[in-house]
Amino acid sequence: MNISKFVKTFTGESPGNVRPGLHHFLRESDGAIARFHLRVDSGGDGMLVANAAAMARLTPSGVVIAKGLLDGDDSAAIVRRLKKLFRGASAERLASDVAAVAALVERMERPQGGYPILNLADPALAPKTLPLERPLAADVPLCAPFHSTKIMERLRQLGIPHVTFIAGRNCDESHLVRAVERGSDLGLITGVRGRGSELAAGNRINDAAAAGLDHLDVYCFSADEKIHDSLAGEGDHALAVRALAAARKYEICAVAQLALTRATLETIDQTLEAIVGHGIENASIFAVAAESDPQQAMAADELPPAAAIVEESAERLGIRLMWQPTVRFDPSTSLGEQLCRGPRTGGDWAIRVEPDGAVFAPRGPAAPAGNILEDDWETIERSEPFSKYRRRLRSDTRCDTCPGLAICAADCPREPAGWANGISGRRPEVGGR
Ligand code: SF4
Repeated sequence: MNISKFVKTFTGESPGNVRPGLHHFLRESDGAIARFHLRVDSGGDGMLVANAAAMARLTPSGVVIAKGLLDGDDSAAIVRRLKKLFRGASAERLASDVAAVAALVERMERPQGGYPILNLADPALAPKTLPLERPLAADVPLCAPFHSTKIMERLRQLGIPHVTFIAGRNCDESHLVRAVERGSDLGLITGVRGRGSELAAGNRINDAAAAGLDHLDVYCFSADEKIHDSLAGEGDHALAVRALAAARKYEICAVAQLALTRATLETIDQTLEAIVGHGIENASIFAVAAESDPQQAMAADELPPAAAIVEESAERLGIRLMWQPTVRFDPSTSLGEQLCRGPRTGGDWAIRVEPDGAVFAPRGPAAPAGNILEDDWETIERSEPFSKYRRRLRSDTRCDTCPGLAICAADCPREPAGWANGISGRRPEVGGR
């Protein structure tokens, strides 16, 4: 059975009849409930995400089959539907295709060591080889429910299945829990990222877990308490450890959010070992880099060897590591503050959406590409920031001697043009309900 043929290969196949947009399914498997998100793009092809962890891109026929299976249709009915939509194939061939997608769905129900969404280090998923019609995820600073709800409804409408809220300093607990609750009601994969100080306070993790939180990303800058606290604030190290333990206790996927600077690099081995010691298998990392006078940030030329050290260490320890776009050091703000703001987006498959709806590409200057609440996606996609971003990703920025570092998968990290400028200088009015 050839499952790989259902991964999109741009064959020019005619679109199926599944409505474009986001479809959400719950399926019982061995007494457990599995969640599936099927995102169907306008060409009929799509993306299937299982339990916020495993993902497969599908051809138009794969979309029709997956939708039928997840709707509970029997194989014979799906074969009849395929025969009408994709003429020329024999009934035997179509039945074998249905069986192959059924096997894929079953396999995705039980992902190994699941991390929410994908790793661009995998060449099959890199944006250069499989450009996505729309992003898969959005990073949104936590805001009042009135704003977060509008943004999530719009994300759902656009077929973007995953939202990660960024919990800033002294975030409002009710905003956090209500955002997760609403995301979960809308069928979105919902995550929260922040410092231990915000996340571990009171019953927040328990309440967020009850509201349907899928993943919790906790800043872990260094296993050395002094280094971590000097960047994240007094006492944060202990609270970060507590947040990770609570995430595990309440069965939320826990992710260690690392940052690469000169100071954190010195203890990266110990940090990764400590993460494993806490039972955490997934880590994300972004570098903070400067073109000149980097101080404690990384210099551009230091990034590739430092990334090699991080990747080797993570591989040795069996940690799934995801790189996020490098953030450009801002000399007007302390390094710790910049680290606690985190990366602009969770990766190159994501967008940043500010509480007022302003949208930013994963990399480049801090220029909004439009407003997700007011503009259609095509307008945002055609905007200058997104056009420039796409041009960079499409041009081959890997050097001839690139040793295949995961950090280089989307863009050469030594190229400042591919870094993300901080955008948190702009904070619109987001108070209220
Ligand atoms: S793409 Fe090549 S030049 Fe750029 S960081 Fe990677 S290995 Fe170095």
